[in-house]
Amino acid sequence: MRLVLLGPPGAGKGTQSARIAQQHAVPHISTGDIFREHVKGCTDLGIQAQEYLDRGELVPNDVVNRMVGERLAAPDAKHGWLLDGYPRTVPQAEALEELLDKIGQPLDAVLWFDVPEDEFTRRIQSRAKQEGRSDDTEEVVRRRLEEYVEKTAPLERFYRGRGLLHYVDGVGLIDEVASRTLAVLEAISGEDGGSEPLEAPESA
Ligand code: AMP
Repeated sequence: MRLVLLGPPGAGKGTQSARIAQQHAVPHISTGDIFREHVKGCTDLGIQAQEYLDRGELVPNDVVNRMVGERLAAPDAKHGWLLDGYPRTVPQAEALEELLDKIGQPLDAVLWFDVPEDEFTRRIQSRAKQEGRSDDTEEVVRRRLEEYVEKTAPLERFYRGRGLLHYVDGVGLIDEVASRTLAVLEAISGEDGGSEPLEAPESA
C-alpha cells in the first residue's frame, strides 16, 4: 500500500493516517512529525526548519523532498507507506512522482479529507488550546491556512488529473471518519485497475 493523505490542516489526517498505517502494517510518514523531532533534537535540519514551522510557513521544497527521499529509501518503506503532510505543493508532488518512477513504486491512491473551511479553522483553533503546539497560535494558524489555500489546495486538481484522487468526508467523529476511510480503501482495492475515482463532493 502506497498512499498519500491530503486535506486542510485540522482535517484529521494525522489521526486517520496513524490508524490506517497500523492496520496495514506500513510506516506512517508524517513530514510535520519528522520536522518536529528534528527541531526537538536541535539537528541541522531542525535548526533550518524551525523558523518556517514557527511562522506557519512551508519549509522549502528541496529540503522536504530530500528528507522524504531519504525516508522512503529506508528498509521499512520497501513494502509500502503512508505519507501524511507530503506533498504539500505541486513541485513536491512532481518530485514525488519522479522519485516513485525512479524506484518503480507507483502511488496507489490519494485520499482527500474533505472538511469545510469553517470546520477546519475551528478545529485547529481548539487544538491550539488543548495541545499548546507552538505553531497553533492565532497568527501562525492564519498563516498556515493561507499557505494551504495558496500552495496545497491546488493538489486536488493535480491528483484528480492523475486519476488518483478519492474523497473522504472528514466531518464527524473520529470513528465515523475511520469507517468511511476504510470503505474508500476497500473500494479502491476492489477496483479493477484504471477505473474512475470516486465522485467529488458538492463542496469540492
Ligand atoms: P504538519 O504537522 O503536517 O501540519 O506540519 C507542521 C509544519 O511542518 C508545517 O506548517 C510546515 O512548516 C512543515 N511541513 C510539514 N510538511 C511539510 C511539507 N510537505 N512541505 C513544507 N513544509 C512542511
